[in-house]
Amino acid sequence: MAGVGDHDRADDNEIEGMLAANRRWASLLGEGGPAPGVSARPVRRVAIVSCMDARLDVHAALGLRSGDAHVIRNAGGAVTDDVIRSLAISQRRLGTREVVLIHHTDCGMLTFTDDELRFEIERDTGIRPPWAAEAFVDLDADVRQSIGRVVSSPFLPHTESVRGFVYDVATGLLREVEPGPA
Ligand SMILES: [Zn+2]
Repeated sequence: MAGVGDHDRADDNEIEGMLAANRRWASLLGEGGPAPGVSARPVRRVAIVSCMDARLDVHAALGLRSGDAHVIRNAGGAVTDDVIRSLAISQRRLGTREVVLIHHTDCGMLTFTDDELRFEIERDTGIRPPWAAEAFVDLDADVRQSIGRVVSSPFLPHTESVRGFVYDVATGLLREVEPGPA
């Protein structure tokens, strides 16, 4: 059966299959791609911070092509110190000027608490993780908090255009979240 069933498949050889797909990709592109002659500086001068959710194809959803934008992803699209690190390099060395933040409906980060995960990891390993999971209960509030972290960062020279959105995984539409107190 084609369609959804193809996406339910998971076995121990997924990476081998991906390597075979990569060889096909490279042979089809030849000298034409993936981004011939395009510099490392994103053409659209935008950096996007997004959740890692497997259903969210950032390039497709925003009409981006290879070379257009930086896409920085993690669980929840949280603006962590490491995301600020990437944004600082993106802006200071690679010329981006605008920031787009994307959270989404049905996010896994809505289904547990930081304490739950912390206790579970500590119980299983004996080590308390030094990082926060950054789970959240309110999507819009978390987007606002993320906007606030970017705008207030002393390390980012360009914070005039920072916009946050919730991506609806059912419709594919982005809904903007107005900045404000988280
Ligand atoms: Zn998510």
